[in-house]
Amino acid sequence: MSKYSAFRVIREGLRNQTGWGPAWRSPGPQDEYDIVIVGGGGHGLATAYYLARRHGLRRIALLEKGWIGGGNTGRNTTVIRSNYFYPESAALYDLSVQLYEGLSRELNYNVMFSQRGMLIIAHSQHEMEIAARTVNAMRLNGVDADLLDRDQVRKKAPLLNYRRDARLPIEGAVWQGRAGTGRHDAVAWGYARAADRLGVDIIQNCEVTGFVLEGGTCKGVETTLGTIRASRTAVAAAGHASHLAAMAGFDLPIQSYALQAFVSEPVKPILDTVAFSPAHGSYVSQSDKGGLVMGGGLDRIPSYGQRGNLPVQEDVLGGLVEYIPAIARLKLLRHWAGIVDVTPDSSPLIGPTPVPELFINCGWGTGGFKAIPAGGYLFAHCLAEGTHHDISAPFDLSRFTTSRLIDEGAASGIAH
Ligand code: FAD
Repeated sequence: MSKYSAFRVIREGLRNQTGWGPAWRSPGPQDEYDIVIVGGGGHGLATAYYLARRHGLRRIALLEKGWIGGGNTGRNTTVIRSNYFYPESAALYDLSVQLYEGLSRELNYNVMFSQRGMLIIAHSQHEMEIAARTVNAMRLNGVDADLLDRDQVRKKAPLLNYRRDARLPIEGAVWQGRAGTGRHDAVAWGYARAADRLGVDIIQNCEVTGFVLEGGTCKGVETTLGTIRASRTAVAAAGHASHLAAMAGFDLPIQSYALQAFVSEPVKPILDTVAFSPAHGSYVSQSDKGGLVMGGGLDRIPSYGQRGNLPVQEDVLGGLVEYIPAIARLKLLRHWAGIVDVTPDSSPLIGPTPVPELFINCGWGTGGFKAIPAGGYLFAHCLAEGTHHDISAPFDLSRFTTSRLIDEGAASGIAH
């Protein structure tokens, strides 16, 4: 915190917090922009920021049908990591971790990135072999990784179940020390404030209901606040991406699913890392407030139902209690869901669409919070230059017709 900010906090404390203004403006839409971005989640906001900051564009509008960060960006479990298998994914997700490492300073907004490390637990000799393969791949891709044995895992997370007679005994883990967690709202708000200060119009409660298509080219959007024309239109709408693509007249290889998460009552510090057991299908970290933040896999049936349900709760929490029995009597405080956008190869889509001047960023599935800085950075490059950055090129929509898939769901064993 700078001396000036510290002084402001004290001053506002003394005058009963009456001096704070809104962190960003609430302008109405203009008739026309250079670039219109649909979707005020982390990816849309980061794209707006990097377009203005890195590419010098100023006539940008970001349209959000609800409130910014009210989609998956404000509903996720905030794990940030780059422990992927393929070089293409490593380049993308590690760029994101690197950008996160400097983000609080860049935005002058504390995004609370806590690099507490992450364990992917192995429960058998077979899983240890897969873990060794993952660590080797990560290191070859220039990403930090260590293979831990059972005693080394115990030092990092003493509360796990180390009994030999456990149904799935712990044998070791993949460790990424630079992984961790961040504060989801702060990431959205930090990018929003910084983009607003660079002149981006952030327009909430503005739903895009169609596209202005002239001679087959996208010339803007129809919205609940009227028509807004744009030289280039960008969609970053996660679970609603295929819905918007259908409005523009093309199909996306995306299925939308509910993904659920859970938080317990707060307790004293018991876990200072992120622990994930693929075999149990669940992961956990402890928030700075003390609650255990827990999650697992997708709901099995595609749906737009943005709510939790009991079968998944039983699966995720049952798995967690097996490998951390000490939490069995904690009370569950909240349970919610977001609608995530899943591609057949579990990798994102960035780039142009079949409609000229309409671009898309989606397909982040269960793992796009960690990718917000890189997703925004690369999408902004694509929009400003009209061509891909080298890192986003493999994630082009065309891979589904050229068969150059990046099947991370199968390769790194993290299905999303
Ligand atoms: P969103 O944040 O969903 O933003 C899209 C926005 O588009 C929404 O605000 C929506 O209202 C808006 N929109 C949609 N249609 C329209 C329209 N027609 N007009 C205007 N606006 C529209 N990722 C991780 O990296 N780590 C995790 O630990 C993690 N855990 C998760 C846990 C859960 C329970 C969930 C649901 C997700 C999790 N994710 C995680 C995934 C991550 O949250 C998402 O991939 C990421 O937030 C996607 O960001 P986004 O900006 O693309 O989408």
